This record gives sequence, structure tokens and C-alpha cells, in this order.
Amino acid sequence: MSLVPSGEPGATVITTRVDDVLNWGRANSLWYMLFGLACCAIEMMQTGGPRADLDRFGAVPRPTPRQSDLMLVAGTLTYKMAIRTKLLYEQMTEPKFVIAMGSCATCGGLFSPGYSVLKGVDKIIPVDVYLPGCPPRPEALTEALIHVQRQIKRSRPLRQKHEDTKIIT
Ligand code: SF4
Repeated sequence: MSLVPSGEPGATVITTRVDDVLNWGRANSLWYMLFGLACCAIEMMQTGGPRADLDRFGAVPRPTPRQSDLMLVAGTLTYKMAIRTKLLYEQMTEPKFVIAMGSCATCGGLFSPGYSVLKGVDKIIPVDVYLPGCPPRPEALTEALIHVQRQIKRSRPLRQKHEDTKIIT
């Protein structure tokens, strides 16, 4: 984006790319699906509360995958729950992002010796940001969200769409 002074005194013209406008909107309206599975969920709720205040980044919690851009997997994922997790992820619309919050979500953590525990959410869905800790603090979760915003700002959605288009002759 650039500011170009126009002919009139005190007026400016802003030039930018469509990609940047789309990315600006997407990065600042990350609606995250509430997906608390264990004790990390308490920290996630705290991060959404008034002290850490995720809302100031345009990130608000949603109770349905169809309105969510971001899945925050907070807690221990069991094999039984993994099937539901994958289904919910598939119901989210593109582009979608995943944060694996805490040691349990990233690799099984404390409970990884358990026969029923999945050793990381990336075994079933792609993960964009791994957030270690038991539990990670609200500051760390905020940093993970900012990292997702950076990923979005680097993307080129229109170019990607053009590259994905197949020309059939
Ligand atoms: S990483 Fe720690 S705090 Fe988070 S769900 Fe696992 S045991 Fe609980």
C-alpha cells in the first residue's frame, strides 16, 4: 500500500493490491471455533476474556464450524474425539487455520503413554501453528494468533485461485 499526494492540498490517494485488501479483512476477522477438550481450554477462555482480550484482534469465538476460520484445539485429543474433530474441520470453509494449543494437542503431552490418546492433532488435520506449554499462557496464545495473521498477510489468494484454475483444451 502506498500514499500518493493528490493535486488538492491536504488530500491523498491510497493505492494498494486487491490481495492486500482481502488479506487485511481476513487477518482482522479471525473467528475461532470453541474447541476446548481439557485444561488448556480454561487458558483459552481466559485469553478471550477482558485481560488478554482477543477481540481487539477481531478474533471472536463461534460455536459452529461453518462460521469459523480458525480451529483452536485446546487440550488432550482422544481417538474417540479425533473422528469428531476431523469432521468439524471438514465443515469449516476455506481458507481455514489450525492452532494446536498445548503439549497435549501438539504431541500427546503428559498423557501420551495412554492407549486412548492421539499423539498430536496433526495426525488427522493440518496444523498451522504449534503452541507448546502445559498450559500455554494467554500471551503465548495471543502470539500464536498474530502468527496466523502474518501467514494470512503473506498469502496471495487471487494468484492462488488463478494458479488453481485448470485450462482444459
Ligand atoms: S497441555 Fe497441560 S494444561 Fe493443556 S490439556 Fe494437556 S495437561 Fe492440560
